[in-house]
Amino acid sequence: MQELEPLRVLLSTPKNIVITTHHKPDADALGSSLGMSNYLKKKGHNVTVITPTDYPAFLHWMKGNEDVLIFNEGNQKKSQEIIDAADVIFALDFSALGRINELGEILRAAKAFKINIDHHLDPEDFADFLLSNTKAAATCEMCYELIENLGDRDLIDADIAECLYAGIMTDTGGFRHSNTTKNVHEVVANLIELGANNSDVAKRIYDNNSLDRLKFLGYVLSEKLIVIPEYSTAYFAITSKELSNYNSRTGDTEGLVNYALSLQGIVFAALFTDRSEVIKMSFRSIGEFPANEIAAKFFNGGGHRNAAGGRTEISLEETVDRFKGVLPAYKSLLDKEKERKI
Ligand code: 5GP
Ligand code: MN
Repeated sequence: MQELEPLRVLLSTPKNIVITTHHKPDADALGSSLGMSNYLKKKGHNVTVITPTDYPAFLHWMKGNEDVLIFNEGNQKKSQEIIDAADVIFALDFSALGRINELGEILRAAKAFKINIDHHLDPEDFADFLLSNTKAAATCEMCYELIENLGDRDLIDADIAECLYAGIMTDTGGFRHSNTTKNVHEVVANLIELGANNSDVAKRIYDNNSLDRLKFLGYVLSEKLIVIPEYSTAYFAITSKELSNYNSRTGDTEGLVNYALSLQGIVFAALFTDRSEVIKMSFRSIGEFPANEIAAKFFNGGGHRNAAGGRTEISLEETVDRFKGVLPAYKSLLDKEKERKI
């Protein structure tokens, strides 16, 4: 285990702390941020969570949500002031400053002691203290272990436990992905013991759809799912008009790509979404198929082997064409995984 003494010493007296996480935070990003924030406040620190952008409404139940500063919603100056005054900055659930937009350069220039806790591959060298575990299913799993290893398990109350539980639940796809290890189950068992109501958390996140979102899902599944059988690939390409037709909000497309991957015989799935200035994409794969390699090589992105993403500044059609053009080079890998798919 990594030597935590420097952190123990650093956190033993009250500090001004900023916690930040990646663009469009998901449950792991926000759960680790608010879980750590609530814990650090209990230890007597002054803590502000700053996110680069907004995040889905189905995460708003987390304790401390009302106090989150959303950088790109008119809070640039205020964020800069708070970061300037910070002694410590936690960077959670991202491994490269490019993932937090303009906040990245502000963080790079900040004089505070920077702590990066993350489970993505190839962490960029920007932090003074790096806790990186690419085998961890979620940053929330790492945060639980950190708090426990600092001897503070008793400080984890039901609110903190639920923030951390949420991130582990979603980053394991509801305890279904191959990253759902024995350790994951042990950590969530501890979180439940500490007061997390697992079924309530699942309901708040998964059973909290707006009618628009469900209708959008129905439309997309019936009209927009494209299957390319020879490459064991399926994808959706959603226009900005289609998003606006269903009053799409942040988070409404989350999970959509998994429907494409759930198809029999599909090894690689993609979702392309026209976000006006950029095309945003999500990739999912099974087994050894490297979704992150494709994201990094062709779509300015990265991620995990089975869950990756990226962005382009060309049109939706050009992006989809680029995607289709990439597949032939991966045919043998796709075929191999197809054989293995249960
Ligand atoms: P999602 O499809 O849920 O948005 O993202 C899945 C994973 O892909 C994330 O956990 C993250 O690791 C990675 N990812 C998504 N978008 C990007 C991106 O634009 N750049 C990089 N480097 N990784 C991304
Ligand atoms: Mn994560």
